[in-house]
Amino acid sequence: MYRIGSGVDFHQLVEGRAFWLGGIRLEHFKGAKGHSDADVLLHAICDALLGALGLGDIGVHFPDTSIEFKDIDSKILLRRSFALIQQEGYEVVNLDTTLCLELPKIKPYVGQMQEVIAQILQLTPKEVSIKATTTEKMGFVGREEGVMAYATVLLQKKA
Ligand SMILES: [Zn+2]
Repeated sequence: MYRIGSGVDFHQLVEGRAFWLGGIRLEHFKGAKGHSDADVLLHAICDALLGALGLGDIGVHFPDTSIEFKDIDSKILLRRSFALIQQEGYEVVNLDTTLCLELPKIKPYVGQMQEVIAQILQLTPKEVSIKATTTEKMGFVGREEGVMAYATVLLQKKA
């Protein structure tokens, strides 16, 4: 039995914040703003995992009003989201994601992001697709005011 889920997330980019993306820290003069470490890719993946089983979203499970989640490493949120789908008897088949940002260029980081995410979700790096696009200088992404991520995940019930 298969279930599909999708997730999308947005964060502002501001100076004076570390830029965590896909579970690793990027070299950049701006970083994503948020209650947690503001890792937009991991948040979109959490929402896709939860959404596939109708378990609500990241805001329900990890509220941004809770001190517990202040500046939390989003890898912990991803591990917890994965644990929730495991409790329901499911495993991940594959994951496909798209990042929308102008800078920095993420190509040098993609392999490392795939490894980090694959390790948490018990996948191989090839089963964790990470694509990226700019918005051709248009809108908030084009003005480098923010970053967004989309994720789609396929789950299957364990035998
Ligand atoms: Zn987020």
